[in-house]
Amino acid sequence: SEYDFDTSTLTDAEAAAVDAAPAPVVAVVGRPNVGKSTLVNRIIGRREAVVEDVPGVTRDRVAYDATWAGRRFTVVDTGGWLPDETGLAAAIAEQARLAVDLADVVMFVVDATVGATDVDEAVVEILRRSGKPVVLVANKVDDVAAESDAAALWSLGIGEPYPVSALHGRSSGDLLDAVLAALPEEAPAETFEEAGGPRRVALLGRPNVGKSSLLNKLAGENRAVVDSVAGTTRDPIDEEIELGGKVWRFIDTAGIRRRHRENQGADFYATLRTQSALERAEVAVVLVDADEPMAEQDLRIISMVIESGRALVIAYNKWDLLDEERRHYLEREIDRQLHNARWAPRVNISAKTGRHMEKLVPGLETALEGWGTRVPTSKLNQFFADLVNSHPHPIRGGKQPKILFATQAGVRPPRFVLFTSGFLEEGYRRFIERRLREEFGFEGTPLDITMKIRE
Ligand code: GDP
Ligand code: GDP
Repeated sequence: SEYDFDTSTLTDAEAAAVDAAPAPVVAVVGRPNVGKSTLVNRIIGRREAVVEDVPGVTRDRVAYDATWAGRRFTVVDTGGWLPDETGLAAAIAEQARLAVDLADVVMFVVDATVGATDVDEAVVEILRRSGKPVVLVANKVDDVAAESDAAALWSLGIGEPYPVSALHGRSSGDLLDAVLAALPEEAPAETFEEAGGPRRVALLGRPNVGKSSLLNKLAGENRAVVDSVAGTTRDPIDEEIELGGKVWRFIDTAGIRRRHRENQGADFYATLRTQSALERAEVAVVLVDADEPMAEQDLRIISMVIESGRALVIAYNKWDLLDEERRHYLEREIDRQLHNARWAPRVNISAKTGRHMEKLVPGLETALEGWGTRVPTSKLNQFFADLVNSHPHPIRGGKQPKILFATQAGVRPPRFVLFTSGFLEEGYRRFIERRLREEFGFEGTPLDITMKIRE
């Protein structure tokens, strides 16, 4: 029988995921110790510890979901890394450029008790040139007496300073109202497909795997249709390239082509860029250097793609360098290390010689198809009835949890909700995922499977 899907049975988080439209991005910029982390904590309601992070240590998460007055947005804390004094000016400039690249609105935080410094002035220059909306935060205004400190920041020439105390929460509501007013008009909830336009691809990988070489090869042979999609506030740094008779939008090509200075913050910025590219992409191509052993960082990037719920293609680059022996070990390495992404299409390419460039598009298309696959509820329940019959959940403590029914709550990526009479253990859930893939394909896409337990 068919079960109608009733969204009222979903938790808030699940419901939010079902109609997830990309949220606008607010980036927080400013010198060390002006109170950025405190402010981010204030905005997200201290749901996650930010301030405790050790300076200089790469954080995986730098973006946080926030809501104000019913509007959803993503706050990005670009200050996770505190450079030493000597590199300060350059590092802050890099931070500001990054914020400008990825954000819809920039919150520029100044310590009002210190006033505007030379470094602050330099950041203002970068922000002003970008044309992005900037909200000037005069922080550490803990009482009325300190408000004149805030007023002095009009001299920066980027508009009204909003006096707040991130620490005590003073006036942070007015500040958030200003941020909301600066956000782009709320787009009607739409799916990626309805949004139309070229499919969006993130080209990812650790330094030196060949990202810019691949990009140059693809753009060079196939002529960039729109050389760089500049001028729009939303996508200032992408490139559209025609491949296999279709136009594809490559996300953040400016970031790929810009050579990163070797500094202690490079890791942090690379993670931030990867995360923000994933937020805007539908499918990721993760480039791996086939001639070198798989590195921790390769696996971390692949995990980030899976966690972001984007489609995935893995491209083994520098294939021209491989000898027989390496090829043999590579197969074993893949078997051993990539077990959580066995479903991803693989292409073995050489950005240098152009080997198998033509295989990239079929890989992308396969992954996007799996990502958008919807299984009718009737088929799904037939599948689960058969599965429960032939492989029932093991009995634990005299009890046997049953799958009452299942439904696919969404696509991109496929999301399943299983209504069960008890907790399904990890091994059984992995078994379910494996069987779902055998039955329905889902090549190139992570699957999201959640349980709703009905006692
Ligand atoms: P970040 O380096 O810019 O992220 O700055 P933090 O958020 O880590 O804050 C630096 C220091 O300033 C911490 O000791 C905070 O407690 C303090 N601080 C942050 N906001 C305020 C504020 O509004 N008033 C006061 N008095 N101190 C603050
Ligand atoms: P990125 O840091 O990921 O953008 O990597 P690059 O594109 O800058 O490439 C790093 C180095 O690897 C450069 O010296 C490239 O010439 C080289 N390289 C990139 N792709 C290939 C390839 O397919 N084969 C070989 N032999 N070298 C490559």
